[in-house]
Amino acid sequence: MEQILANDIDEVLVTRDDIRAKVEELGALISKDYSDKNLLMVGILRGAFVFLADLIREVHIAMETDFIAISSYGSSTNTSGVVRILKDLDDDIEGRHVLIVEDILDTGLTLNYLVKNLSSRRPASLEVCSFIIKEGKQRVPIMPKYSGFTVPNTFVVGYGLDYAQKYRNIPIIGTLKRSAYEDDGLV
Ligand code: 5GP
Repeated sequence: MEQILANDIDEVLVTRDDIRAKVEELGALISKDYSDKNLLMVGILRGAFVFLADLIREVHIAMETDFIAISSYGSSTNTSGVVRILKDLDDDIEGRHVLIVEDILDTGLTLNYLVKNLSSRRPASLEVCSFIIKEGKQRVPIMPKYSGFTVPNTFVVGYGLDYAQKYRNIPIIGTLKRSAYEDDGLV
C-alpha cells in the first residue's frame, strides 16, 4: 500500500524556503569565519547528514568532512545522555579546526558528551553548528556558535530527523500527527 509520508505531518514549523535561506546564511558565515583555517566539518550520523550535505555546498572555502555515528541510550524520544560511539572519526583531528554539525540540540547531553570527547583529541578549535535548538530543554549549558532555528518543546521530524527511522526524507521540519505514532506507544 502506498504511504505518503507528508500526510503524517501535523504542523510545518520550518518550510523549505526557510531552510534554504538559513543554510545559505550559515554557509556564508562559516566561509567567512574559517577562510584562513583548515576546516573539518564533522557530521553526527544519522540525523545531521541532510543538513551537512546542504551546508557544505554553501561553504565556499577549502574544507573537509568526516562523520561520527553515535547512539544514545534511551528511547527515540528521550535521550539519556549516555552516548555510544558506533563509528568513530576516520581522521585525526589534532591541530584541526573542527566544526561539529548536528541536527537538533534538545537536552544538550549528546553534544556535551561529544564536545568533551573531541576536545580531548586536541583540535586547534572546536565549535558546534546545530540546525535546530529546542526551546527550554537544555540540561547542560551548551550554546552552539552557529544555529538555525528554535522550535517549541515538541518532537519534530524531517530534514534528517526521524521517528523510528522514518521521515528523514521530508524536506521540511514539522510535528507528527498523533495517528502516526499512537500505535507505537509514544503517547
Ligand atoms: P540531546 O542529547 O540534545 O537531548 O538530543 C540530541 C539527539 O536526540 C538529536 O541528535 C536527535 O537525534 C534526538 N532528538 C532530540 N530531539 C528530537 C526531536 O524533536 N526529533 C527527533 N527526530 N530527534 C530528536
